[in-house]
Amino acid sequence: MAVDHAHNSLPPSGNALLHDTSRPFAERLGRLVRAWAESGQEADWLVNGRAYFALWCWHLTDARRAGRYDEETTAYLRGAHAANGGAPGWDALLRRRDFCSCHGEQWRLENISICLGCMDHVCYQLGGRCPCGRTEVVG
Ligand SMILES: [Zn+2]
Ligand SMILES: [Zn+2]
Repeated sequence: MAVDHAHNSLPPSGNALLHDTSRPFAERLGRLVRAWAESGQEADWLVNGRAYFALWCWHLTDARRAGRYDEETTAYLRGAHAANGGAPGWDALLRRRDFCSCHGEQWRLENISICLGCMDHVCYQLGGRCPCGRTEVVG
């Protein structure tokens, strides 16, 4: 059965690192994977909620581009995916709703993208661009 992180009292520490939008996403992820590895792969350095949504959308996009990760990043992705309920957990997350920052409209997550630059949701009406000016839109 999938763990429902929405009812946990505290978000994992990993969320804050991935939401540190002062750095490019790849750099944030690199720091996150290092922190997780150095902690002995503590679950607290995994991510949930929007941070996980961003991470997994990035992973799916990168996989489509035939991206390859180093072993540690691969292990981290596997750990974060498992902690969020694996494939059923991802499907459940996609059916949740959130607002796009561009129009304030509510969408199912399966129908919306996320900007890895500012971590805001953006909808298709922007054609893969984000008002923040960065172009790392995935999902
Ligand atoms: Zn919008
Ligand atoms: Zn943005």
